[in-house]
Amino acid sequence: MITVNSAQEAVDTVANEAILAAIQQTFAVGGAIIHNATGEVIAALHNNVLMPFPGSNTPYFLPHDPTAHGERQLVDWYYENAASLGLPPPGQLTVVTTLDPCAMCAGSLLTAGFNVAVSAIDDYAGINYNSQFNFPSLPPQIRQQAQNSWGYYAIAAPVSRAYQGANSPVFSGQSIDSAAYYLTSSIFSASVNTVREASNNSGLDPSKLKNPADLPANSPVRQALAALSPYALTVQCENPRDPGAELAPPLLVTAQQSSVFNSVALIDPFGNLLVCLGGAENQSPIRTAFMETTRGYAVMRWTLMNDPDPAVRAQAEQYLTHPKYGTFVFLYAPDPTTPQAVMTFGAYGSTMEGPVPQSYPSNLQYVLLPGNTTAQALSQLAQNLPPFYTQSVQVAPAQVLSQDLINTVKNGV
Ligand SMILES: [Zn+2]
Repeated sequence: MITVNSAQEAVDTVANEAILAAIQQTFAVGGAIIHNATGEVIAALHNNVLMPFPGSNTPYFLPHDPTAHGERQLVDWYYENAASLGLPPPGQLTVVTTLDPCAMCAGSLLTAGFNVAVSAIDDYAGINYNSQFNFPSLPPQIRQQAQNSWGYYAIAAPVSRAYQGANSPVFSGQSIDSAAYYLTSSIFSASVNTVREASNNSGLDPSKLKNPADLPANSPVRQALAALSPYALTVQCENPRDPGAELAPPLLVTAQQSSVFNSVALIDPFGNLLVCLGGAENQSPIRTAFMETTRGYAVMRWTLMNDPDPAVRAQAEQYLTHPKYGTFVFLYAPDPTTPQAVMTFGAYGSTMEGPVPQSYPSNLQYVLLPGNTTAQALSQLAQNLPPFYTQSVQVAPAQVLSQDLINTVKNGV
């Protein structure tokens, strides 16, 4: 068991994780859960968006899991282990991270209620991108929570940054040396563009793609899809960006079988329903339907693309492409007053990891809005996100066009 005694030691620990991430050629970010009272490092992790396949000679510049940022993984790790390890509640713990959390991770951390302490700023995708500590990307109801539980360590000369934040993070008010700050900042900057491009460019253009509906029942791609989602390839929409009432049964039945009544479908460029999953919020409050769907598809594709059999790898490449060419359809849009909504839009941004091909309507669609939410409130949340999400990805949630689908789902909920 490692124990740290200062902000410097805490940042040195997570910087080591960021170095391991850089060696893995993924986003060079690291984090740890530290017990405020004891300084014990309860868990330390790094980014795993890109991951080598054990024993494979093939290149691994393919997203293993676009949601596998260090902080998001730490939140799920906590819920997997809290009971068996007898861990204190998140409010007595701090997630220390080398880099300001992105929208997905910020939403995850705020949902769980961790304290957060940060070394380097990310002025493109970080939730404190403007360095003002006013969190304009968060729903107004959540900003105060962040201001009460987050902190940005002071940096000694020559950088000379004052501590910014609350008293509750571990080692709040303390400073780190400029070398540690430069390491955490520059190691991420050196990784970000290549990893983003590798993720965003990792699939065939739809004009070159083959239709998985044509595959025989025993093909590896069809079997992997069926194992992930019972509705895989059972529904075809005439227009992949304009799903009709045929999508209602999978969305509704999947939602009924899930811990929270919601589901998300991924439709491919041929209009095939590839994946339709609900959330696992009974295991971790951040395992929402969208998180499960995007992660499930990415990990399945990565596994096939790294299969020892070259024929399986070739089939995966020819039939399954990047989700930016597909359409995500939520049964219910996320509630824009919650940190889960920030997490969801952030995870969508991390799934796209760059520009989305121009299309109408958006490939981020929902059938219904929750509670008293308006479409305008949902769009406003998307428009308030850090620059990466508004300028590069251009997150634009839109209701499905088909009134038939809306009415059929309304009758079923
Ligand atoms: Zn993140």
